Amino acid sequence: MKQYENYPEIREAISKLCSHFPGKYWRKLDREHAYPTEFVQALTKSGYLALMIPEQYGGTGLPLGAACAVLEEIQRAGCNGGACHAQMYTMGTVLRHGSEKQKQKYLPGIASGELRLQAFGVTEPTSGTDTTRIRTRAIRDGDNYVVNGQKVFISRTEHSDLMVLLVRTTPRDECQKRTDGMSVLLVDMGDALENGMTITPIRTMMNHASTELFFDDLLVPIGNLIGTEGNGFRYILDGMNAERILIAAECIGDARYFVEKASSYATEREVFGRPIGQNQGIQFPIARAHIQAEAAAAIVRQATGLFEAGEPCGSEANMAKMLASEASWQAGDTCIQTHGGFGFTEEYDIERKFRETRLYQVAPISTNLILSHIATHDLGMPKSF
Ligand SMILES: Cc1cc2nc3c(=O)[nH]c(=O)nc-3n(C[C@H](O)[C@H](O)[C@H](O)COP(=O)(O)OP(=O)(O)OC[C@H]3O[C@@H](n4cnc5c(N)ncnc54)[C@H](O)[C@@H]3O)c2cc1C
Repeated sequence: MKQYENYPEIREAISKLCSHFPGKYWRKLDREHAYPTEFVQALTKSGYLALMIPEQYGGTGLPLGAACAVLEEIQRAGCNGGACHAQMYTMGTVLRHGSEKQKQKYLPGIASGELRLQAFGVTEPTSGTDTTRIRTRAIRDGDNYVVNGQKVFISRTEHSDLMVLLVRTTPRDECQKRTDGMSVLLVDMGDALENGMTITPIRTMMNHASTELFFDDLLVPIGNLIGTEGNGFRYILDGMNAERILIAAECIGDARYFVEKASSYATEREVFGRPIGQNQGIQFPIARAHIQAEAAAAIVRQATGLFEAGEPCGSEANMAKMLASEASWQAGDTCIQTHGGFGFTEEYDIERKFRETRLYQVAPISTNLILSHIATHDLGMPKSF
């Protein structure tokens, strides 16, 4: 283990836990598009999903870097943290902006695993990346909000007890700023299912438990409003840096998985009477993928450090996510190439991991939007939208 690979005990423990969930476990789930319930239960039981929840609410109170180490090692071991990673950052919305009563009510249950907060509902079919144009509307009626609208690509809703939902409480054209007038509601999924919310699964190229949600006069108690009405966009933005850094850490884990697989196969596989890895045509792309992954990992560490110090880190979090997602994709491509035909077979797991890691150039934010952020915020060029 490299000296800059922090939290060695956590890394070792995760690697041990993951060894109980080998490729054949994930392959079966992938074929059936099924949720890794046993894996998520094991992680929850071990306490690692709750490590960012403060001790007073039943968690371990560790910083973001510890959560990064957990997700990185999950991916590096060939598993998929996408099944449960959201809990680490959606919980932050309740922790930072929820009332003391809400924190007491929900966080201990999330920490113990009794409650799952795996769903985060922002994206809509008509607004896409332009979040300020969301149309899902919540109108106050007595002690409830009445919610109508639609969300798309919302992951894990069928496996979550709670969902952080972004809605419009004031129409965009009645707000001074387009980012005003949105609010965050904490939706109890059990209540909502009998009360105006419908869930439709969406099959995607990887097993990600994605769904479409329809709200038809869904009633959400006003006590489930997080923070102040109208400030929801800021609360969501607030959580995005942590989300991007954690996803970047997952991509670093994926990249290392691919590099390790590729270099060991290149060393073992003999063609023309010698290991294929003796050919520089095979060696160099693997070395390049390794270099790209380690460079991206350095930016992930930099972004994590700023986040933990409470410093602004929007650009670094974005850069980390972009570089890490590109490094993992490049490493995956190299790994397939190194394995020749075997890279395409299910039993080697590489094609599954390759499909899984591709997502992160699009979600939770696509590369173009990151480039636009850097171009306008850091480099002062004019905004295109
Ligand atoms: C498997 C999966 C799981 C997901 N899980 C969740 C979830 O749990 N919760 C949630 O809220 N969302 C989720 N998402 C949604 C995800 O965050 C969005 O797909 C992503 O943000 C892109 O939005 P979009 O699909 O609407 O693309 P669009 O906004 O329609 O954009 C399409 C393409 O055009 C580009 N583009 C758009 N505008 C510009 C511009 N001005 N300049 C240059 N390029 C531009 C984008 O970069 C993108 O490549 C998930 C998506 C997937 C695929």
